[in-house]
Amino acid sequence: MDGIGPLSKKLFSAAKEVIPGGVNSPVRAFRNVGGEPFFVRRAKGSRIEDVDGKSYIDYIGSWGPNILGHAPTVVTNTIHEVAKSGVSFGIPNPFEVEMARTVCDWVPSVEKVRMCNSGTEATMSAIRLARGFTKRDLIVKFDGCYHGHSDSLLVAAGSGALTHGEPDSAGVPGDFARNTAVLPYNRPEALEELFAREGEKVAAVIVESYPANAGFVLPRPGYLELLARLSREHGALLIFDEVMTGFRLGKAGVQGIEGLSPDLSCFGKVIGGGLPVGAFGGRAEVMDQLAPDGPVYQAGTLSGNPLAMAAGLAQLRELARPSGYPRLEQLGAHFEQGLRTLLDAKGVPHRLNRVGSMFCLFFTEREIVNVDDVMKQDMEFFRKFFWGCLAKGIYLAPSPYETGFLSLAHTEADLDETLGVFDEVLGGI
Ligand SMILES: *Cc1c(COP(=O)(O)O)cnc(C)c1O
Repeated sequence: MDGIGPLSKKLFSAAKEVIPGGVNSPVRAFRNVGGEPFFVRRAKGSRIEDVDGKSYIDYIGSWGPNILGHAPTVVTNTIHEVAKSGVSFGIPNPFEVEMARTVCDWVPSVEKVRMCNSGTEATMSAIRLARGFTKRDLIVKFDGCYHGHSDSLLVAAGSGALTHGEPDSAGVPGDFARNTAVLPYNRPEALEELFAREGEKVAAVIVESYPANAGFVLPRPGYLELLARLSREHGALLIFDEVMTGFRLGKAGVQGIEGLSPDLSCFGKVIGGGLPVGAFGGRAEVMDQLAPDGPVYQAGTLSGNPLAMAAGLAQLRELARPSGYPRLEQLGAHFEQGLRTLLDAKGVPHRLNRVGSMFCLFFTEREIVNVDDVMKQDMEFFRKFFWGCLAKGIYLAPSPYETGFLSLAHTEADLDETLGVFDEVLGGI
């Protein structure tokens, strides 16, 4: 008994007839927890209501974008207002300038920024730009870091001594994958070895500054600095993929927290206020290589459209208030403290990583260094925990590899209610 209501079940069978796997993005299919998804009717604040009328406290927020909660009035009002004057022009509009100015003001390493329509587009374009700028082909990425689904980045670690990758999806040519080296995250020696061997070939190192797509993993002290130093010494660009962390962990994301200055940064999710937006930016010298000024081609019919820009700006303005990031940290700390107390009291083996409004609970005692450790947690325990919580109205990510998100719409009462449910569910496993 998975607790999914009859209307959701019916919709999912109808979906499977006409949509591959019944979903438009694989994680939504609930395969990692062995079940079927529910369908949403509406959502407001911290709560989601499914088509069968069951309500959940949501800890995903559309996988990151909804940092103000669902359907925040500042964003929905903006969308209504702006839409009256047109939703897309394909001609420059003033919101694009305001958005670019905001990003450059908030993120010191970004001198110029180009808008696009998804995180995938942002990383794909940043990679091409880095290759065009350095006139080199090799990209370095890290096992367990997700950068969207473009060919050069859907690459898994190769076997044995070879660091050059293998396709991580059917349809990705081996020749593409060979231009991407995949290293274990948080292992300085692997990085040093690769740069010693082929540092002169590396166009760019792309990293999820705090990896958040295979659990939520934090860099060991000095690791990101090493990455920055080796890239600089070998003339490779450092790309921070802050699609998840950007504008969520503070105005300047992880680079602001760590005091680092990547050559290029990628954004998405929060920057679009729930509309499809991505962005990449960085040093002017590099960004000026983009068309129409430079030889690196990149474009988008809907890029910078007024609706998406205005929605994103409305969200960012709200976050910039004193009631923005400090409040998210306050909520995060409250949740973390309650969760630690509960898990210790229950004697449940666990690790908990939390920064600001992002958290991930691992059912293992292992130190979480990288994705290898994430994969060794107790998956069966996670599944039971997930379904137990869902049945009692708490919606956690349907996969042990995902990060949880709090929003400004969550209250201490929501968090305490959630901890109460955790207590009951853990008691029953
Ligand atoms: C979500 C995500 C992406 C891909 O963004 P889409 O908008 O889904 O294409 C890329 N990088 C990171 C770090 C992400 O979390």
